[in-house]
Amino acid sequence: MKQKKNPVDDVLEARRLLKDAGLRSTPARISVINALKRSTKPQTHAELADQLVPLGFDKATVFRNLTDLAEAELVIRTELGDHVWRFLLADPSHDRSSHPHFVCMDCGTVSCIEDMALPSTSVRRSHNISRISEVLVKGHCLTCDTANA
Ligand SMILES: [Zn+2]
Ligand SMILES: [Zn+2]
Repeated sequence: MKQKKNPVDDVLEARRLLKDAGLRSTPARISVINALKRSTKPQTHAELADQLVPLGFDKATVFRNLTDLAEAELVIRTELGDHVWRFLLADPSHDRSSHPHFVCMDCGTVSCIEDMALPSTSVRRSHNISRISEVLVKGHCLTCDTANA
């Protein structure tokens, strides 16, 4: 799924994402986006700081920019029940509200559950819900379950 691209393409793409979201392109934001893009699983603030502090960004800068990106919906925040936020890059072509997602509570990997429909509009209405933005199903992925067995 991941294509090999040179770093210049990544920077241009990050700039485009930021522009489309109405955010200013800053080196910190571009670095956060690219660090998330390189990650195979959602990253905690500490994990991202480990990657970005050596590049010259301090932890507070990383956190502030993560928050900005999350507010602009470029980055998705998940919490697996351990009160630690994990961040992953949003895929603009991926409609997260159209199907539920499975998140592994051990490694944080998020996968699509495509063949499961979300509650119909009438069900939502009867439960006084105006809009469902995402349904997260929590559990343990096959990889982690096998490793822990
Ligand atoms: Zn897992
Ligand atoms: Zn999905």
